[in-house]
Amino acid sequence: MHHKTRQFGKTENGWPLEIYEPSGLAPKILIMGSIHGDESLSTVLLSEALRSISPSDLKSAVILSANPDGILAGTRCNGRGVDLNRNYPTSNWEATPVYYRNRPDDPQNIALSPGRSGGSETETRAIMELIDALQPQLIVSLHGFLACIDDPDSSSIANDIALRTDMEMVPDVGYATPGSFGSWCKEHNIPIITYELPSTDILKMKEKHLPVLTDLLTGHYEHKLS
Ligand SMILES: [Zn+2]
Repeated sequence: MHHKTRQFGKTENGWPLEIYEPSGLAPKILIMGSIHGDESLSTVLLSEALRSISPSDLKSAVILSANPDGILAGTRCNGRGVDLNRNYPTSNWEATPVYYRNRPDDPQNIALSPGRSGGSETETRAIMELIDALQPQLIVSLHGFLACIDDPDSSSIANDIALRTDMEMVPDVGYATPGSFGSWCKEHNIPIITYELPSTDILKMKEKHLPVLTDLLTGHYEHKLS
């Protein structure tokens, strides 16, 4: 089984940004892992789901890692210290440092850069151009480890995923996210589900989440797209 990749851009450190696409049809769903490099478990799960199916069963577009610089360095940010999930040119983008937390109960006190301006990073621009070309009807962005499904529209797909994974449905993550990918998608009227993995051990995580991710890849949810 050999899924083929296509390079759609480069990171600030020069690594390729790659996408897996179904052959011969336009994908309706785009699934993306690891916009935060310290949440690379999302890449591991997504990769395992992808490799469990044959290329002819792939119906969605898949970006295993939206932040290869961060994955290689084990950091949340890209190679220039920018939190890519705060670098989108949205109306609420802010130049002030981004404060985040590693764990749900931690204080939000680790500072990162949102970039020189919205869209300053090559990764951000490449993903915006890609989405412009693909026109997906739904984007699912994987994160960790707040254990919730975030969908401001409370769509039936999001509700089903929450039910299947025993996670809470929320309309937002509970704090402001200026310049986030989710904010950019909302401003462009692209439905987006932010899928926050839990912090359970890896084997339990695979048992619960691989079937859901596999269904997202193979078109199981397409009939629910509005
Ligand atoms: Zn994240």
